[in-house]
Amino acid sequence: MTGAALEARGLSKRFGGVQAVDAVDVALGAGEMLALIGPNGAGKSTCFNLLTGQRRPDAGTIRLFGRDITGLPPRRVWRLGVGRTFQITATFSSMTVIENVQVALMSHHRRLGALWRRADRLYIEPARDLLALVGMADQAGRACGLLAYGDLKRLELAIALANDPRVLLMDEPTAGMAPGERAALMDLTARIVAERGLSVLFTEHDMDVVFGHADRVLVLDRGRLVAEGPPATVRVDARVRAIYLGEDARPVAAPPPENRP
Ligand code: ADP
Ligand code: MG
Repeated sequence: MTGAALEARGLSKRFGGVQAVDAVDVALGAGEMLALIGPNGAGKSTCFNLLTGQRRPDAGTIRLFGRDITGLPPRRVWRLGVGRTFQITATFSSMTVIENVQVALMSHHRRLGALWRRADRLYIEPARDLLALVGMADQAGRACGLLAYGDLKRLELAIALANDPRVLLMDEPTAGMAPGERAALMDLTARIVAERGLSVLFTEHDMDVVFGHADRVLVLDRGRLVAEGPPATVRVDARVRAIYLGEDARPVAAPPPENRP
């Protein structure tokens, strides 16, 4: 596809005897919310790790707005505007909500050296703006460790946005959330996509979220793309139904253990 925000062709990655990703083509359109779905072990996270530079593909090319970024280290890819959501780690959970966003902004503006001087003042206005964007303005002064799970996820989104990404990759953003919270987080994400002209690629186990929020859906099974199209088409695709509803039906709503809070 020409004009894609992020485009991969023939992406492949093998781990020992497992072909985790097998000649996958992905084209994420500008302003698009694209879902990557598939059973556990299908290769979704590996795809993400290839696209963000966390892992080097065995074969294939990755382009960001036409620029070849294949094989670039993660930090370069991130600097070029491919963001991803990260879980807030224990170190940062003792800081307040706004401090976490300030640190993310300092990192983006290469001012981490300032952390030891006047961190309390730096980027406080843009940090407030980002918190307002995700509906967390009233919790700016709270310690992250005290946040409800859904609020922590919104904060993680604000932190990812601090890097001003053009493309955002979200690997199971709603894992561990209650169904109502899932829809709310994805509604929020869709609103930000529209407002900022972002492009989002996300994986998700909850089919209501997928079919309710994706513009388009890619289906992976054992490393291979097996279906692709608008939600209404993919929902009734025979191969997709076989994967999800077949003899070896799996509980598609359950998040995998590694992504539980
Ligand atoms: P998904 O995110 O769709 O659940 P993954 O990308 O995590 O799938 O995994 C795809 C396949 O690759 C699985 O068979 C998994 O066991 C294997 N795999 C993933 N990462 C590694 C790794 N670092 N070393 C060995 N095998 C891996
Ligand atoms: Mg995964």
